[in-house]
Amino acid sequence: MSAGGTGHAIVLGAGIAGMLSARVLSEYFERVTVIERDTFDADGPRRGVPQARHLHGLLDRGRTIIEELHPGFTEEAAALGAPTAEALIGTRWYLSGLRVTPTETGLTSLMATRPLLESVLRRRTLAAPGVELRTAAAARALIGDARRITGVVIAREEVEQAVAADLVVDATGKASRSPDWLRALGAATPREERVDVDLGYASRFYRRTPEDLDGQSSVIISTGPNGRGGGAIRVEDDRWHVTLAGMLGDHPPVDPAGFADFAATIAAPDIHRIVTSAEPLDDGVPHRFRHAVRRRFERSHAPEGFLAVGDAVCSFNPLYAQGMAVAAQQVRVLRDCLAVGTVDLPARFYAAAARVVDVAWQMSTGSDLRYPGVVGHRTARVRLTNAYVGAAHRAAHTDPRIARTFLRVANLVEPPAALLRPAIASRILLPGRRNR
Ligand SMILES: Cc1cc2nc3c(=O)[nH]c(=O)nc-3n(C[C@H](O)[C@H](O)[C@H](O)COP(=O)(O)OP(=O)(O)OC[C@H]3O[C@@H](n4cnc5c(N)ncnc54)[C@H](O)[C@@H]3O)c2cc1C
Repeated sequence: MSAGGTGHAIVLGAGIAGMLSARVLSEYFERVTVIERDTFDADGPRRGVPQARHLHGLLDRGRTIIEELHPGFTEEAAALGAPTAEALIGTRWYLSGLRVTPTETGLTSLMATRPLLESVLRRRTLAAPGVELRTAAAARALIGDARRITGVVIAREEVEQAVAADLVVDATGKASRSPDWLRALGAATPREERVDVDLGYASRFYRRTPEDLDGQSSVIISTGPNGRGGGAIRVEDDRWHVTLAGMLGDHPPVDPAGFADFAATIAAPDIHRIVTSAEPLDDGVPHRFRHAVRRRFERSHAPEGFLAVGDAVCSFNPLYAQGMAVAAQQVRVLRDCLAVGTVDLPARFYAAAARVVDVAWQMSTGSDLRYPGVVGHRTARVRLTNAYVGAAHRAAHTDPRIARTFLRVANLVEPPAALLRPAIASRILLPGRRNR
């Protein structure tokens, strides 16, 4: 296949953000080289993305963007065994301890393990014109100066090589070293904002039987006042992927008995029923997520020829399942910016991407601040928003219209302001009105 443009783009990291970026860049550059530290000998979890062993819900906003870039993506994942379901019908949601009323939302839940999502995305991206993947190659430094990045130093088996590029895109995730690399060149570095949540995850797989969960495909029990929550989704090979989570140092154990005991303390019994009746299939795995972090590239004077995307820009508390969808939203912004040209690309990209990131960041950090142990400034706006969201949760238990709007906002398909529309706000604030 012939390539879409001229020049060479390098993408660092072959995760979700990296692969989606490579797909978009292939429309505008003749060659796109993806540099990845890991190898892909098997399609299972790999070292560079330890979070891939835990439940990964793909918000519908993310799924539809991926579908736009790779038509047929959902169908292909489904053909490989990942079930799909109407978000509030095939799945169960518990908010503030009670079940959200089942109703049509227009949203599709795609239930797959993260390795399956990645492998479909990788195969499709590598079929795009001009895209090449170099594995077992680690990015070590950027080349250039404070005004322009012109390439990257990569190391394979400790042999370093300089590779020139017209554009370098950092998609190396939360642990991105690009702030250090930029500093080493005398370029501006982004200021970091952090929210400490000391979240612990533990995940296990179980054999699914058709009676489990009355035949439904997933259950999400959001964290209650005790900071504990969890999810179980039916994934490929007819397994339950079960993840339990605890905030602020209260982390779930992975051993079967400890896992089941922890599951008994979350706000609804559905997950506990699964883990105490189904056959365990593995030894389980923990993960510690200490803080959400946002790097304010949009406020620094970024050099030309370099961009960061995905978790390298913003890593969200995973409880809200926003990371992959926001990475996809940023890549969509990148596509729009490239359509106008490459002049002033970083400034235009970061400004537009920041608007997308803002929405999810405010939703998730605002939610984290409901927990008194989370350190952060609780402005009047945050307190008011959390009180309003609490009222929306209560309304969503009985009112299909609120349930639908709430889910669409949580899936980043509608803006948070959708919950403030007069017809919705009146039903949230005046229970009598919704009963009528
Ligand atoms: C426990 C947990 C659960 C989560 N659950 C969800 C969820 O339910 N839904 C959701 O949407 N998001 C979830 N997330 C967030 C999601 O995993 C991330 O948002 C997403 O992976 C970001 O993608 P990325 O491509 O930016 O980074 P990553 O997926 O982290 O990919 C980075 C890539 O860069 C490579 N790399 C790193 N350094 C180098 C280097 N120097 N040279 C070359 N390659 C390098 C890595 O090997 C990796 O392949 C969760 C996160 C955690 C921690």
